[in-house]
Amino acid sequence: MANNFQCPNCGHKASAVTDSRPSRGTARRRRECKSCGHVFFTVEALHLPSGLIKAPAGFRWTGGVQSFEHRAMLKAAKFLLQEAKKV
Ligand SMILES: [Zn+2]
Repeated sequence: MANNFQCPNCGHKASAVTDSRPSRGTARRRRECKSCGHVFFTVEALHLPSGLIKAPAGFRWTGGVQSFEHRAMLKAAKFLLQEAKKV
């Protein structure tokens, strides 16, 4: 577990996690600076690489890989549905 959050008070690089509560895919951690004792909170979230999607074969958009964007996803989904109907 990475433990390199800088203390917002003194800038010290080491902090101890004194409490951790998960909520909706994120974890809220209570940290205590090992140097000055300042208590601060961090929210950590799992970052999945699924933010990038590949264009389905035959579907054209500007790049091969596009960052997740609702309209582009919808367009791709409609395209795939139409392709599926053809079969
Ligand atoms: Zn500190």
